[in-house]
Amino acid sequence: MTYDYLVVGAGLFGSVFAYEAAKRGKRVKVIDKRNHIAGNIYTKEIEGIQVHKYGAHIFHTNNKKIWDYVNQFAEFNRFTNSPIANYKGEIYNLPFNMNTFNKLWGVVTPQEAKDKIEEQRKAAHIEKPANLEEQAISLVGTDIYEKLIKGYTEKQWGRKATELPAFIIKRLPVRFTYDNNYFNDKYQGIPVGGYTQIVEKMLSSELIDVELKANFFSKKDEYLEQFPRVVYTGMIDQFFDYQFGTLEYRSLKFETSVLDRENYQGNAVVNYTDAETPYTRIIEHKHFEFGMQPKTVITKEYPKTWEKGDEPYYPMNDEKNNALFKQYRDLADKLPNVIFGGRLGMYKYYDMHQVIGAALATVNKEFEN
Ligand code: FAD
Repeated sequence: MTYDYLVVGAGLFGSVFAYEAAKRGKRVKVIDKRNHIAGNIYTKEIEGIQVHKYGAHIFHTNNKKIWDYVNQFAEFNRFTNSPIANYKGEIYNLPFNMNTFNKLWGVVTPQEAKDKIEEQRKAAHIEKPANLEEQAISLVGTDIYEKLIKGYTEKQWGRKATELPAFIIKRLPVRFTYDNNYFNDKYQGIPVGGYTQIVEKMLSSELIDVELKANFFSKKDEYLEQFPRVVYTGMIDQFFDYQFGTLEYRSLKFETSVLDRENYQGNAVVNYTDAETPYTRIIEHKHFEFGMQPKTVITKEYPKTWEKGDEPYYPMNDEKNNALFKQYRDLADKLPNVIFGGRLGMYKYYDMHQVIGAALATVNKEFEN
């Protein structure tokens, strides 16, 4: 069998590429070292509930083209991400909005909330935020920082908030309306029946062969020789044998249990924002699809320092790592027949809509030129 492409990684990036290549009559071999397709968006049915095996995945985008694109492969429900925070038994709405401010301070109007934040900001004397702690206090004041940001963020990143860059928190929405919708995007939802079906459909062409439990590095040279073009969505530093050093990631440990009760926490996502609870959040999967099953499945998410062999979930995009990535990127640019893509190949935190956008841009470059 002769193929036009080898795609390394059956995640979203690799699968969009394979689907589009097959649509254009190309033969594609897809390999993945895991025993399932779909990478980190993989969902598996347990007790009739679609379980997000690699953490909560909520699809959201402002881009109508990408929304229409993904809707070809599944029907999406009306799920709106409205996580709540549990701080030592006190419950607060997220993202920070008038409901949060009302619960914390008893304020009712947006002006009262702004005045309260301003009062706390002034008392902290922060002119130009130099780190995450200062940035957070200047956005939402000390009370919210202490109860809802500090413990959670330090657990998530394994570093003190004063040692983290300010930009991380710039992405947190703060709203002076009573709106608990976490995202600002126009389109949002969960695929009815889970995410795996999306990738299954993408890879269903007769022109695509999928091989699971196949690690690219078990015969890298052979693969590179055999296939005219390779799309690689694994770790870029590993591709080059870590020759300049190892890129850093944050990893996660997931602990999933089936509970013999109908409803455990009343919400899909609950963040534990104190420093003492070792996990950052608990996901109750049935609520993504408004499930009424007699049992429930929950997953506790524990942040973890990444070591070789762990799953690399979040790239640590600080100056040091970005500079190292650039060195690898320069090497990658010298390989005309290998396309690097996806969150590991580009060392970039991509949401699903961004991965689809990046894969479609790669497809355009590959086939339209
Ligand atoms: P991956 O899904 O990681 O796919 C890469 C594949 O390559 C993997 O299957 C891997 O096994 C395979 N591979 C790697 N190396 C090799 C090798 N050497 N040989 C063979 N195969 C290899 N996005 C959202 O839009 N909304 C969310 O709510 C959301 N929540 C998230 C929560 C968590 C905890 C995480 C980690 C991510 C979340 N994301 C979310 C992001 C989303 O998971 C990614 O955008 C998407 O999965 C990236 O697709 P990818 O193909 O780039 O990478």
